[in-house]
Amino acid sequence: MGRARKLPLGATLVDAKGGYISPGFVDIHVHGGDGADFMDGTVAAVRTACRAHARHGTTTIFPTTTTGSPVQLAAMLAACGEVKRHGAVADGARIAGVHFYGPYFAPDKVGCHSQAGRRDPDAREYRRHFATGIIRIATCAAELPGAEAFYREATGHGCLVTCGHSNATWAEMARAFRAGMRHVDHFWCAMSSVASLRQRFGTPMQASMEQFVLANPEMSTEVIADGCHLSPELLEFAYRQLGPRRLCLVTDANRALDMPPGRYRFGCAADGEWIESDGRVGFVPGGGALASSVVGLDAMVRHMKTVTTASLPEVIRMASLTPAERAGVANEVGSLAPGKRADVLVLNQRLRVKRVFLGGEEVSLAAD
Ligand SMILES: [Zn+2]
Ligand SMILES: [Zn+2]
Repeated sequence: MGRARKLPLGATLVDAKGGYISPGFVDIHVHGGDGADFMDGTVAAVRTACRAHARHGTTTIFPTTTTGSPVQLAAMLAACGEVKRHGAVADGARIAGVHFYGPYFAPDKVGCHSQAGRRDPDAREYRRHFATGIIRIATCAAELPGAEAFYREATGHGCLVTCGHSNATWAEMARAFRAGMRHVDHFWCAMSSVASLRQRFGTPMQASMEQFVLANPEMSTEVIADGCHLSPELLEFAYRQLGPRRLCLVTDANRALDMPPGRYRFGCAADGEWIESDGRVGFVPGGGALASSVVGLDAMVRHMKTVTTASLPEVIRMASLTPAERAGVANEVGSLAPGKRADVLVLNQRLRVKRVFLGGEEVSLAAD
């Protein structure tokens, strides 16, 4: 703001002390933090995870389901709904909606999630979940029976419709696209490739989810830029090929964020799969396969800025306006503009989060 601009009466002056002001981050794919997983299905767990992510600069959050029983999913949706209605600054990152992610994964792409909690889309089940009104992002593997009906239902509810944990072909993606699918979860992780489809169908080799996203300007995707999931050249490739308007930064963080290294449950505390955190990333014990991240969106922003040629405004866009646009909340959040919520970060020159404002009110950054 120029010095000559007149401040409204009673305005608060905030000194960024030579750092940056940034729109609050928007995380469309996140499972938990500070010991809590959204799938724990309690108000206390939802609040704990939202507060943890606020300390990392996330002001708008889409708590993300994983595989689990219909009862566990219903409890998660109810707990998120209760915190969303409450809407207090002390609750941390504001819930804009839920990302309904598991349980409709392909059996061969379940990854670190509980195989027992995976199933094919069941209209009687998901209609009940959509009826809560809180789901804003909806994932299903495109090759599953019933996927198209799921996509159409999700599109009807105004969701960003996404394909993930999938071994889909180009043809399956094209069908999904006609049913409203426009996004792919964590690019290169738990998704098809030319090589994985060769195992499924032999030759001639087929185009995969990767080619479908890169070739289709209406498709967006997201990367886990924690330095452990994807190499710098893959992050640079994604940025150059997709550009900052089609690529989102997400944490995909699990409950081990801000927790000491050790063993943790991915998903519900009662029966989620065991994963391990070394403090840098989550992985499957013994096997070495990765099991989502344990760092905040601020760390993703710093890493993306360090290892790619994306400019700072572009990197910030990928963590704020782009996910807000894709999830349909850009009229409210995602950039610093008159009329939007005053979700503002003060970052220092090294892009560390110094202050966080939610709707103009400062959030305490002290750990719980
Ligand atoms: Zn995943
Ligand atoms: Zn995930």
